[in-house]
Amino acid sequence: MNRSEYLKGTQRVVIKVGTSSITKGGPGASSEFMDSIARQVKFLKDKGIEVLIVTSGAIGIGLSTMNARPRSREIPIRQAAASIGQSVLMQKWNDAFQRYGIPVAQILLTYDFYSDREKYLNLRNAIQTLLEFGAVPIFNENDAICVKEIDAMFGDNDTLSAKVSIKMEVDLLIILSDVEGLYDKNPKIFSDSKLIATVKEITDEIKAFAGDTTSKVGTGGMRTKITAAEICHEAGCNMIIAGSDVDNVIERIIAGEEIGTIFLPEKRERRKSSWIRHSHASGSIEVDEGAKNALSKHVSLLAVGIKEVKGRFDRGDVVNITCNGKLIAKGIPDYNSEDISKIKGLHSDKMHEILGHKNYDNVIRSENIVLM
Ligand code: GLU
Repeated sequence: MNRSEYLKGTQRVVIKVGTSSITKGGPGASSEFMDSIARQVKFLKDKGIEVLIVTSGAIGIGLSTMNARPRSREIPIRQAAASIGQSVLMQKWNDAFQRYGIPVAQILLTYDFYSDREKYLNLRNAIQTLLEFGAVPIFNENDAICVKEIDAMFGDNDTLSAKVSIKMEVDLLIILSDVEGLYDKNPKIFSDSKLIATVKEITDEIKAFAGDTTSKVGTGGMRTKITAAEICHEAGCNMIIAGSDVDNVIERIIAGEEIGTIFLPEKRERRKSSWIRHSHASGSIEVDEGAKNALSKHVSLLAVGIKEVKGRFDRGDVVNITCNGKLIAKGIPDYNSEDISKIKGLHSDKMHEILGHKNYDNVIRSENIVLM
């Protein structure tokens, strides 16, 4: 198989850019580099691909603004730098994307976003809405309150980008870095080092290739990129490490050019469908024949086609969808069982009036339904 085949069906992409790529070794953010990213993101969006960005650079930019050089354990200075740098960083991203008429949104995450279900569901809804409005969500860690990342003891933006990718059901994570990919030896030392184009399994040998390299300005290195690759591999998401200096790198990756290193996922089936299919159902929704026909055409489930709700479930849980008591599909509703009981059989325009709020017109969006 070649790259185009591996990347077939890519609909949602995360692009992670490291500090050294953003600053290009200088004190501030490189407008030229950010503009090139914005231009390439526009290209992807024009092809119907949704894009999310994970950006580093806040601490680096903040430190130069403050003219400070903290020692490695001086956390408060780095926290202050992150707070100063983040606003500059977002201003620059905003300027770059504005030229292409694309709004950007700042999302600062703490590590509990993926373990706290409520926070995760709210985040997911916010991201979905931003994407529907054509915006590009730009993530960074909330470094002012997450000291562990800055201390490089726990998190880093490589790992964060992998977690964002798997939680936001992304097909491909592109990590742009000052290294061109994974080499069998450190390319900065050995002239005969070879780039590894495809990694199918993250074996001990692959981990050994990554060694212990760290970049001077960011907290990541090849080691954290391999951790990111392991997270993506297990969750069914493709990941590519490529050089941020390569011309039109994102466009060329999407076009199927063999650039950098691709880490292939473990499972072939699309992760979300397989996850829904194999998840325990917390309850069930009985639908009428009309809804059954609509579902078979991969259309979303509307309240009007729902006859009965059984069991107690939250939005985001997996439920069975039945017709005449027979299992026809499984899905993840955007409303809990109590709300669905109130709106069943009604037209979507009544939902707000009855519930006092409305997440979506559909009770279950088509992308969250798997036919059984
Ligand atoms: N969140 C950090 C920053 O914006 C970067 C962490 C990393 O380099 O991985 O400066």
